[in-house]
Amino acid sequence: MTQQSLHKRHSELANSERQLQILSNGIFQNGGLPKFKDKISETNQFPLKAKALEVLQINVGYMCNQVCEHCHVDAGPDRKEVMTRETMQQCLEVIKNTGVHTLDLTGGAPEMNPNFRWFVEETSKLGIEDFMVRSNLTIIKANKKYRDLPKFFKKHNIHVVSSLPHWTKGKTDKQRGDGVFNSSIEVLKELNAVGYGMPDSNLRLDLVFNPSGAFLPANQAALEKEFKKVLLEDFGVHFHNLFTITNLPISRFLDYLIASENYEDYMYALVEAYNPLAVKNVMCTNTLSVGWDGYLYDCDFNQMLELPVDSKAKHISEYNEELLDGRNIVISQHCYGCTAGAGSSCQGSLA
Ligand code: SF4
Ligand code: SF4
Repeated sequence: MTQQSLHKRHSELANSERQLQILSNGIFQNGGLPKFKDKISETNQFPLKAKALEVLQINVGYMCNQVCEHCHVDAGPDRKEVMTRETMQQCLEVIKNTGVHTLDLTGGAPEMNPNFRWFVEETSKLGIEDFMVRSNLTIIKANKKYRDLPKFFKKHNIHVVSSLPHWTKGKTDKQRGDGVFNSSIEVLKELNAVGYGMPDSNLRLDLVFNPSGAFLPANQAALEKEFKKVLLEDFGVHFHNLFTITNLPISRFLDYLIASENYEDYMYALVEAYNPLAVKNVMCTNTLSVGWDGYLYDCDFNQMLELPVDSKAKHISEYNEELLDGRNIVISQHCYGCTAGAGSSCQGSLA
């Protein structure tokens, strides 16, 4: 189990340029991979264009109480980047003045940002249709000050989205750390107790599954069925939907792929599973990702690769619909992760 972020370990993969170099040139013995750009050109989908903004995903900081093996953020307790209240205020202005219907707060552990509660309180006054917080669950047990979060979420009608890579302790703890499974189950029960995830409840509780190794996720509907059965029968836990997410070959997952000598095979598997029908629905077409420092990206993955939006408006304080709608999406080889099989986004498969 990883104990420190790539940044703390001074790994060469902490450098986004190095990651892009590996992704672009490959470290392949038998020739390169087709370029994602060429692949989408085959069906006249290049350049990929942004449509009107519907989803704002805000990364409020890279600090986290966990150091999961596959984290694409390279988050952990040793990351100190957190969004300031001033930047949050700028996000609020954009939410107020645009047609954003979904807000997605992510991190790290977003709850660790000292202004998290203030931001949730202010945002919830704006009547966003779907206000998601990606909670890793264990944060609620990590410190006394977080224990009341289930009630806080309920008060503000937050849609809670939480990772649980497997219904077994072994697979979950291997990917997310010792003790994570038991702690997650306890917190899921606490969320159920206040009404989250219950069959007829409007308090949404969804789980996120990402594969625990170098393979693509299985069918989302079938996995959801299995998760529901086991979690209910073995632990009495309810939840609403399961989102399956493909691990993108960046950051700590890229590190894992290279260290386990799975990188080439995984990239070939993504290309092999390329689905041109998934391209038109990739999440970057209606989403903007805001970094902890306010800079704008087409998605959270591009944020981690430090690939900013291709627009004159680079920062949330410069938000301008005319400049951002219709922009060309910045793509690279990691994008194959979004178009493999049924496709993948932060809200699950695209098919
Ligand atoms: S809980 Fe999420 S943000 Fe934190 S290390 Fe794990 S994957 Fe990364
Ligand atoms: S990685 Fe980002 S930019 Fe590439 S297809 Fe996926 S969402 Fe779009």
